[in-house]
Amino acid sequence: MEVTLSKRTTPTPAPVQHGLGAAGTVEPVLEVCSLVAGYGRIDVLHGANLRLLPGQLVALVGANGAGKTTLLRAISGLQGIRAGTVRLHGRDVTALDPDARVRAGMAQVLEGRQVFGPLSVQDNLLLGAYTKRDGVQERMERMYTLFPVLKEKRELAAGGLSGGQQQMLAIARALMCEPRVLLLDEPSMGLAPLLVREIFHVVQQLRAEGLSILMVEQNARAALSIADWGYVLETGNVTLEGPAQELLRDERVQAAYLGL
Ligand code: ATP
Repeated sequence: MEVTLSKRTTPTPAPVQHGLGAAGTVEPVLEVCSLVAGYGRIDVLHGANLRLLPGQLVALVGANGAGKTTLLRAISGLQGIRAGTVRLHGRDVTALDPDARVRAGMAQVLEGRQVFGPLSVQDNLLLGAYTKRDGVQERMERMYTLFPVLKEKRELAAGGLSGGQQQMLAIARALMCEPRVLLLDEPSMGLAPLLVREIFHVVQQLRAEGLSILMVEQNARAALSIADWGYVLETGNVTLEGPAQELLRDERVQAAYLGL
């Protein structure tokens, strides 16, 4: 199937040819339709649409203030919306609170990591498992395999970890509730290039294991380099979408986000 980049001029739902969704046979795990959200009387999102197919890693890129974090928070229910719908595995979760969305299979790693600083690494992981108390020990061991440094530091206060280690902990904590959809907000923020590579390597590993991931990133090049599909958000609208490798070669993306 030939897939071409689509330039969005109106906030219509995403086209069916979204990457792996050939012939429209694959149901999205996450579908966002015509989302409108904002702060006070100002709308920040003006009818955003987005789809995430099973096992895909989708990158949402855009300039500072484009509304990426607002969109992610609206999807997880942390940000109220004025209009639109969020569907998770075909179920309309728009009316559910954030906690219920976690229980329905969606977890978010917030921007800026937000670990519980005074608590130990281990206790942070235990808190992440609050929706799913069975098999906690096995999941914790799995997190230690994924991030060996967290095992080394499991007794230490999370606040004493480096930025990269805190990011690993934030991801591990989100995974402790066994989500089927992971929302990642700027995992590379403030990290040295080596650590960014390490974090992105884990993200790829999670995708390879079948997790569906929506990742917001200002580091458009790094994000699109590992993603299957990409969306460009400009002032609250998705203006461009397509296979990530094609977006990387797109002149408009190169000029605006890749510094070329
Ligand atoms: P960044 O990468 O800088 O975080 P972003 O694309 O994630 O950018 P948002 O954080 O979603 O953008 O912000 C979108 C717009 O909403 C910006 O103009 C921002 O100033 C505004 N905004 C964000 N949070 C609030 C808030 N709590 N109250 C008022 N305005 C806000």
